[in-house]
Amino acid sequence: MKFIDLGLDERILEGIDAMGYENATPVQEQVMVPVLEGRDIIAAAQTGTGKTAAFVLPIIQKILRHASNSASPARHPIRALVLTPTRELAVQVAENAASYSKHTDLRAAVVYGGVDMKEQVSILRNGVEILIATPGRLLDHIGSKVANLSQVEILVLDEADRMLDMGFLPDLQRIINLIPAQRQTLLFSATFSPEIKKLAQSYLRTPVTVEVARQNAAADTV
Ligand code: AMP
Repeated sequence: MKFIDLGLDERILEGIDAMGYENATPVQEQVMVPVLEGRDIIAAAQTGTGKTAAFVLPIIQKILRHASNSASPARHPIRALVLTPTRELAVQVAENAASYSKHTDLRAAVVYGGVDMKEQVSILRNGVEILIATPGRLLDHIGSKVANLSQVEILVLDEADRMLDMGFLPDLQRIINLIPAQRQTLLFSATFSPEIKKLAQSYLRTPVTVEVARQNAAADTV
């Protein structure tokens, strides 16, 4: 499948072109259409399958209508939130989001623990539509009223199984309870353990299930 067949905005296609991707990977084919249609998703997809673009691209498409070149922070509330277990994954996802949204007025940023809050605070105060975060640090920013989730439309739980393994369930529950119920939720996990199924049952609405075999996205196209 070609990205152009998905009806993505020209500005997003430019970002994809710059990455040199020709065709969508299997997980991208299966995830992007239902996400664009507004469905919730539970997907078994490992890193390396192209899963990041599979959720980032349709998210950008969906929130592009909110893009604004206004300098006012009020015009840049958080519309999409991606939660990841680790700083490394958060940074990777944020780099992808920044590349794909480069030709738009949407802003993407990342916050994670273990570093000073100051720089993150000023980025959040300026406003950002796509926020990638590790759960604990996000709760710190929420606690100090620097981050507000009341306008989040799309929530992604990336590597959800690892987040549960790392004991983030209470943090996830606190965060999800601050997001409007009228949202789209995308859950990515390497496995569908009973705990993951329970999480999906609690927070997803009639999700589309996607399972793709382990494979290497880059090898597919080189
Ligand atoms: P991910 O599974 O999201 O970590 O992506 C794994 C790698 O595949 C990353 O280096 C991506 O840049 C790359 N990638 C993602 N989508 C595509 C695509 N459609 N064609 C070729 N490479 C891709």
